[in-house]
Amino acid sequence: MATPVCIATWPFGRLAAMTASKLLLAGKPALEAALAGAQAVEDDPSVNSVGYGGLPDRDGVVSLDACVMDGRTLSFGAVAALERIGNPAAVAKLVMEKTPHVCLAGRGALEFAITNGFKTRNLLTPKSLEEWEKSKPKPPQPMPGHDTVTVLCLDSKGDLGGVCSTSGLAHKLPGRVGDSPIVGAGLYVDNQGGCAGATGVGEEIWRILGSHKVVEMMRAGKSPQEACEQAVRLMHQVAGRRGVHVSSAAFLALDPQGRHGAAAVPGTNFEFAVGRPGSLQMLKGVEVGG
Ligand code: ASP
Repeated sequence: MATPVCIATWPFGRLAAMTASKLLLAGKPALEAALAGAQAVEDDPSVNSVGYGGLPDRDGVVSLDACVMDGRTLSFGAVAALERIGNPAAVAKLVMEKTPHVCLAGRGALEFAITNGFKTRNLLTPKSLEEWEKSKPKPPQPMPGHDTVTVLCLDSKGDLGGVCSTSGLAHKLPGRVGDSPIVGAGLYVDNQGGCAGATGVGEEIWRILGSHKVVEMMRAGKSPQEACEQAVRLMHQVAGRRGVHVSSAAFLALDPQGRHGAAAVPGTNFEFAVGRPGSLQMLKGVEVGG
């Protein structure tokens, strides 16, 4: 028997970790708990970067990215650029369970969701529309505070599961896909190494396949904290080769023993929630400079 743990990104990670922890304590599998945690955030209209209420792309259209991964079997599913469906992570789980594929995008993802009983809705809220109007950048650029919910769980059987869900960068070009639905980039989960997830500028996270790197470093013996810090250092080095700086990015990780870690690029101001039996803490990711 393992002691269940859940970690989740950003202040809204508290809601995710609370929701997931209840299920973990009731003996539910890690992936089911992580999905419920992410879904609670997707459904919260006050969160402007995930699910319903997420900020739209350049043309005012909300398009969502998500993926799920099971650490026992390494099964995963993803959806990219999904419109009009507020719970992309649940659709990603169905892609994993019901199709021979691992990722559906755009119109195909929408059709698949509708066929499987998901209801379409307008994902813009009056607040997200107003924020988008006010913050229209030229050219499109990442907005501060535009964040992915990533939920990583260890269940009582010792299995790991992870989910991430996002509306991506605000004002992104239509059709842009970030790191979040890309297994290895925004999320990676393997019972035999650990699990890791990311948030921040997806292009930089994807470039180094950051979450997979973190898991491989844990497999090789690094602690989750060391592995996250090393991934941030690598991201700085790689960005340096193009003469650019990463404005915001963070990794968080959980190993098969339930130890956690998190690290971020300076200025990210990264916070995450850690839920363990009887406690729910908000912690800050260690900032690692280039
Ligand atoms: N990583 C997400 C993306 O690039 C956004 C974020 O986490 O802030 O789509």
